[in-house]
This record gives sequence, structure tokens and C-alpha cells, in this order.
Amino acid sequence: MSYVIRGTAAEGSIRFFFADTKDMVERARSIHNTSPVISAALGRTLTISSVMGLMLKGENDILTVRIKCDGPVGGITVTADSKGYVKGYAENTDVDLPLNKFGKLDVYGAVGNGSLSVIKDLGLKEPYVGQVPLISGEIAEDFTYYFTASEQVPSAVSLGVLVDVDLSVKQAGGFVLQLMPDCDEELITRLERRLGAVPSVTSMLEEGMSCEDMAERVLHGFEPVVLDSVEVGYRCSCSREKVSTALMNLGKEELTDILETDKKANVHCKFCNTDYDFDENDIRNMIAALG
Ligand SMILES: [Zn+2]
Repeated sequence: MSYVIRGTAAEGSIRFFFADTKDMVERARSIHNTSPVISAALGRTLTISSVMGLMLKGENDILTVRIKCDGPVGGITVTADSKGYVKGYAENTDVDLPLNKFGKLDVYGAVGNGSLSVIKDLGLKEPYVGQVPLISGEIAEDFTYYFTASEQVPSAVSLGVLVDVDLSVKQAGGFVLQLMPDCDEELITRLERRLGAVPSVTSMLEEGMSCEDMAERVLHGFEPVVLDSVEVGYRCSCSREKVSTALMNLGKEELTDILETDKKANVHCKFCNTDYDFDENDIRNMIAALG
């Protein structure tokens, strides 16, 4: 089960999220059959998007993260709901790169340069859109920059995905720390020093740590208080019925045109890799139902 814990530290001056998203990221890997470096790039993006979904205030709010980039991954899209459930895909799933100079999966090599957009559909007329250039291509630093530059919330983001020898996801997770307004300089300095001394998320998870253990470890000396723990995961809500409704929304004229030219309609869901096929009869029935 993937889950996220939320809480505060330093008497409310810091809010935190710690996530264990192994199951979520492994599900994405098995749906898309991603190569290790793409499992890492997509997995990091899914993890942070899940946490950002939980930051949404309205129950029906939806968040979309879009990474446009010039690296071989070709782009990443992830959607999250306010319960922290996500779905996403990478444009190219079979990118194979040598490990980087630190012996790690070369996420920067796969992503390269480009931009990071966060689109929040808050049920208003216009969605909220925040965009920043990618400053590192390693995902975590890019979101740290996004929170600080676009949302004006000084934050620290750490994300990690460890891929096993059989290419399945061995560990995945991350954390987000955010400073509340008016927090004093001394606290910031102390926190920065602390963050420089903590192990990576994947090594903590490899040690068998839970999210609660990671919060204690990372925020040692800051008195972390866990407020709640929520189950999150990978979920696509598409169905034959929904796709059929979408096709009917094209209207009678368009459907008649499809019937005359292609005699069939195939719709592919990029999020869960499912194909929906509609034959001549199905389309005829849709047209008839439209009256
Ligand atoms: Zn789907």
C-alpha cells in the first residue's frame, strides 16, 4: 500500500509530507513497461504529484503536472486528485542510458532542459497555471524551485526511485517540507544544515523505515508531529462507457463521417494503456441513440 503522512514541526513553522509510493510507482511501471531511468523519472513525478494532490483544498480539485523537455523521455504528464490518487505517462518509455557519474539512474539525461507546468483545476472558470523552467531535470530540485518561485512557499523536496535487478520498482518515495510565513532565519539555517546530513529517501526506505520513521529521522530536533496518514495510489477511471459518451459528444455529423470513412473507432487511454474499440454496429447504435 502506498501512503503519505502529513504533519507539522518546529511548533507549526514547518509543514511536512512523507510518502512511500513503491506500489504506486510499480503499478505505473507494469502498465507502461518503462525502462529503469523512465521508471525513475515518471515515479518521482507521480510521487510529488500525489503529495501536491493532497495539498488541494476542494474535494473535486484536479491537478495536472506537465514536463515539457528536450531529453529522450520526450515529456511527462501526471494528473492527481485531492485524495492523492494519480495517473500518468511518459512520451517515451524505453529510454536506456548509462548510469550517471554518481552511479545513479540518469534522470537528467532522460529529461534534459525544458519547463515544468502545474495546472490546477479548482472548479473556477479558468484553471490556475504555474510554470517554471526546469533548473535541474532531476525532478525534485525542479519542484523545489517551482514551490519557491511560483507559489512563493520556500520548500525542500526530496524524491527517489530504486529499480531492482528484475526492473521492478524496489523502493519509491519522497518528502516535502514547507516553511510557513514569518519563520525565523535561525530555523531556516538549522533546517538547511539538517537536510545536508540526512540520507536519501531510497536508502532510508531500504533500511526498512516507514514514513513516520523518515519524519523522525529527517526532522530530528524539530519535534515533528504527525497529523494523519492517507492511502494513495495509481488509478485511472476511464471505462468503455465514458469513452462511448465522449464519442457521442462528437455529434451525429462527426459520427456519421467516422462510419462512412473508417467504419470503426479506436480510442487509446494513455494513462492505463487500454484500447477501446468500437465497430460499425457500435457507431450505428450511437447515432441512433442521438435521435
Ligand atoms: Zn485509462
